[in-house]
Amino acid sequence: MNTHHAIKGNLLGLAVGDSIGLPFEGLCPKRRIRLFGKDLCHCLLWNKGMFSDDTEHSCMIAQSLISHFDNHESFAKCFANKLRFWLLGLPVGIGMSTLKSILKLCVGISIKKSGVFSAGNGPAMRSSVIGVFFYDDYEQLKKFVYTSTIISHTDPKAYNGALTIALASSIAIKQADISPQDFYKLIVECIDKEDSEYLSIMRTIVTSIDQGESTMDFAKNLGLEKGVSGYMYHTVPVVIHCWLTNQCDYKKGITEIIECGGDSDTTASILGGIIGARVGKEGIPEDWLKNIADYPRSIQWIEGLSDELARVKLTQQAGIQKKISVPVLILRNILFFIAVLTHGFRRLLPPY
Ligand SMILES: [Mg+2]
Repeated sequence: MNTHHAIKGNLLGLAVGDSIGLPFEGLCPKRRIRLFGKDLCHCLLWNKGMFSDDTEHSCMIAQSLISHFDNHESFAKCFANKLRFWLLGLPVGIGMSTLKSILKLCVGISIKKSGVFSAGNGPAMRSSVIGVFFYDDYEQLKKFVYTSTIISHTDPKAYNGALTIALASSIAIKQADISPQDFYKLIVECIDKEDSEYLSIMRTIVTSIDQGESTMDFAKNLGLEKGVSGYMYHTVPVVIHCWLTNQCDYKKGITEIIECGGDSDTTASILGGIIGARVGKEGIPEDWLKNIADYPRSIQWIEGLSDELARVKLTQQAGIQKKISVPVLILRNILFFIAVLTHGFRRLLPPY
């Protein structure tokens, strides 16, 4: 597998998944179909899509890796600075733990103490980029995932979930068809053995796939019939189940994870990043890529970012970060806020 192809597929895959899943965030599966129909397409701004925090944070991780791929502490400081700057742009839909930790960073608390005790899925939504970049070096992969996680979330469950996503992405570059059993073995090797709850959940993925269960049925058996929550041990197992059953089929994977409902921008973004690393840009539906209307982080901007990150990986020389215009970003965030608010009001109306 070509690393450049994988990095581009990862960043575009997570961005498109985020954008497709965003209008359905928080809806239960039945209501989503009643409101928007069964077929998936962009529908935030008529037939166009935009990105949320999932894509923004992953891009900030990519930028931080471009400058500091060889030192996890400077990488974390760079990412923390980007989070502070990101908050100044007045983002919409920010997770509570992430908000608290960025506020702590803003008042001068260090990156080692900024995290709050939470097992929200925030660290998993940004870890696939790290997994793809360090697919050939698990020591570095773990260090970078850990420092990226504790900036905002200190519950060990947050690290376990983020690490699982990074490992899945690292595998997606290397092979197209890992068996659920082999992936489980990798998790047992890499995760804290004392967390028997997590290992037991991961084990149920193997059993469920062996029995031919769909991801939707697996989610229902976890008690998530009304949608996948933002709790790390709900989000990650459902995403991993869907990835293991759709390792080379981006559209089918994204369709199935969105059918599960709930935190659909984040679940589709995480899954999209993993499958994207395998199938590349060519494996992502063309109309899903074409119908994204976002700026200044456009599809072209993300492609440029992935070109630079791939160059850093190949040459092992730090690169130059792509800059973003602050006034343009604030204007964009105001438009995004109006779009999200309009969707919120739309949901108050029938059909229920
Ligand atoms: Mg989001």
